[in-house]
Parts: sequence; C-alpha cells; structure tokens
Amino acid sequence: MDLSEYQAILLDLDGTLYHHEHPLPGAVNLLLRLQAEGKLFACLSNSTSSPVRIAERLMRMGVSVEADHIYSAAAATADYVVQTFAPRPRIFNLSTESIREMLEGQVDWVQQDGEPCHAVIVGTPTNVYATEERQRIALGLLRKGAQLVGICADRVYPSTRGLEFGVGALSAMLAYAAGRQPVFCGKPQPVFFNKLCTRLSVDPKRCLLIGDNLEADIVGAKNVGMKTLLTLTGVTRRRDLSAVAAEWQPDGIVEDLSEV
Ligand SMILES: [Mg+2]
Repeated sequence: MDLSEYQAILLDLDGTLYHHEHPLPGAVNLLLRLQAEGKLFACLSNSTSSPVRIAERLMRMGVSVEADHIYSAAAATADYVVQTFAPRPRIFNLSTESIREMLEGQVDWVQQDGEPCHAVIVGTPTNVYATEERQRIALGLLRKGAQLVGICADRVYPSTRGLEFGVGALSAMLAYAAGRQPVFCGKPQPVFFNKLCTRLSVDPKRCLLIGDNLEADIVGAKNVGMKTLLTLTGVTRRRDLSAVAAEWQPDGIVEDLSEV
C-alpha cells in the first residue's frame, strides 16, 4: 500500500497493533517501515495511561515506539484541562497516576469537597484514585459546579479477566448522581483527533487512520475528515459493516496489518 500521499499515519494500538501482550501480524514490520521512511506517525489509545507508560508497555512486548509518537485519551484529557481552565486549572483527580504525572506542576490539585474546583477527571472504577471516599468527594465537587471530564466514553474495555467497567460507565454514574453532563476527551470525540493533529501540525484531511473499532476509530476519524482503514484483528467484524451507512464505511479493509 502506498502511504506517500498522507502527511501522517495514525495507528490505533489495542486490537490493531497488539492484543493483550502480543503484537498482531504485520504490526512490528509496519512500525519499522514508518520509522525507516521517516514518515510522521502516531499510535493512539483510549487508555487512561500516559504515553510514557504505554511506551514502556510496548517495550515489554518487544515493540519500540517513542512516547512522543503515542497519544492517549489521558494525554488528550491533560491537554484539554490545561487549555480550557488556563491559566491555573484546579483539578480533582479520580483517575490514574498517569494523570497526576502529566499534570503535576501545571495545575493545583483539589483535595477536599468545598474547595474551588474547575474539573473532576474521571477514569475507570478500578483506577487507583477512584476510591470510594474520593468518589464521594468528586460527587460533592460536581454538584457544586465542577465540570465532569471523562478520559474517554468507553462503556467497557477488554482485559484478560473478560469485560471491565469502562471510563464511560463511572462517568455515567457520577453524571447521573450529580445531574451533570460529562465532557469526554478520548476517541471518537473530535477533540481527541483535533488536539492530536494540532500537536503533529498536520491537516486531518491528509491523515490516514488505521483502526479496529468502527465507532471509536473509523467514525471518529471520518468525522474530522480523515481517510480510514479498518483492520479485522479487533472488535469490528466484516459482518458488522452491513448495518452501517455508506458515509461511515471505512475507505479500505484489511485482514491484518501485513496487508498494509
Ligand atoms: Mg482498538
């Protein structure tokens, strides 16, 4: 496949480049080719982890990608709150150590209910900062007007144990209890793709997104004008496409990345 017409290649991670702890067919070769050609590329994930931590995880699988070639929903969330609540955001963290690391020094951390707070950052129910006591503090802050910022809207996510409650599930619980409307920063939200393109200094219309998830990857990317390629190694099956309107069909389909 000729990739020369694109300014940047955007690659989903889970279900596209790897599954659990294993790279998928063609993934390592495609990354090596992009690196050898000096092609601009980024690896994308709705993860609540930082690019640095995701790069470490990829390294343990034998896949070498630098953190500045990785963009996660957690990174988009950090970008969002820094820009939206400038000059000095006041943030309550209900999510991950990654969020704390990325925002340390750029925000003031809210600790208690009753303190002024711009936003509550919500991750999954099993994230280290989502303790029962902190959920109660978050509820109080949200009811007093803090914005509910969900890292992504995923209802569930797959793990080796099966399906786990996703960020969207905990966000929905808090939003319902607080009577608030959440804001989400991950795929398929346009804010995710637009912030990524701003970081890369590229035009979305000249990017190719390769992903396994019709809703989060393909529809999200098409919404901002990107070209899309669906790989059948993850959640979306070929039969799922028959129920989808023509305008949301991927521009191409491959069995796995070795066809790229
Ligand atoms: Mg995926």
